[in-house]
Amino acid sequence: MNILVGYEKVFSASHEVPDEPRCSHPHGHTFRVCVEVFAKGPLDDATPGLLRESLSDVVREMDGRSIGEMAPGASQSLHGIAAYIGERLKLLLKVKRVVIFDGTGHMAMVEWDDR
Ligand SMILES: [Zn+2]
Repeated sequence: MNILVGYEKVFSASHEVPDEPRCSHPHGHTFRVCVEVFAKGPLDDATPGLLRESLSDVVREMDGRSIGEMAPGASQSLHGIAAYIGERLKLLLKVKRVVIFDGTGHMAMVEWDDR
């Protein structure tokens, strides 16, 4: 049995994705990101707090910024932004999944199988 905990944050940032016609020019979105991580068990009350603090820290860095300036060289696509957030959190947590919405109905999800 896997016990997962999740947390959600909203942030605004700009990006530019040359390969995507609807996002090919610099523009902003209000992104909503949901992160799920493995808990250490049903009585693990440390992981939810660590997830909340860690995701809040990462999102605070990104809010109001340009993704391209924040993470030079990283993909600015929805999947790229989800992967960036997940990789940052994987330094502290066992991340299962990052789901991100761009506020226009589009969603991307990145999953990791390595526990
Ligand atoms: Zn866009």
